[in-house]
Amino acid sequence: MNDDSNNCIFCKIAKKELQTQIVFENEEFIAFNDIKPVSPVHTLVIPKKHYKNLLEVNDVPMLGKLFLTACDVAKKQGLDEGFRTVINTGDNGGQTVHHLHLHILGGRFHKWPPG
Ligand code: AMP
Ligand code: ZN
Repeated sequence: MNDDSNNCIFCKIAKKELQTQIVFENEEFIAFNDIKPVSPVHTLVIPKKHYKNLLEVNDVPMLGKLFLTACDVAKKQGLDEGFRTVINTGDNGGQTVHHLHLHILGGRFHKWPPG
């Protein structure tokens, strides 16, 4: 953990200090519904450990497990017809919460390219 984690809302969610609709949880990850969904299914998967964003990660197994967890969560939510995974990084990536998170978007068609 580093100092950034002290005021991090996603760390608070991981520690259950802030309530959310939890979809999945294990020792390393937690998945919960986005507070402002942009698709019928909009779930965020986060490592419980605080990483500011993708650029701060050097843990390759954790990244692999993050994606496999996202697949499990998508399947659990019945997204058999497909889904979009998104990781926004930094200002130009549109990142607003500075704790690594993976968006799962499903339940409708997602056009490409995004805006
Ligand atoms: P990003 O723009 O990639 O950093 O995405 C951050 C996401 O976190 C946005 O889609 C927000 O709606 C979502 N968000 C912010 N606060 C909360 C919260 N307390 N519970 C659930 N989702 C949240
Ligand atoms: Zn955090």
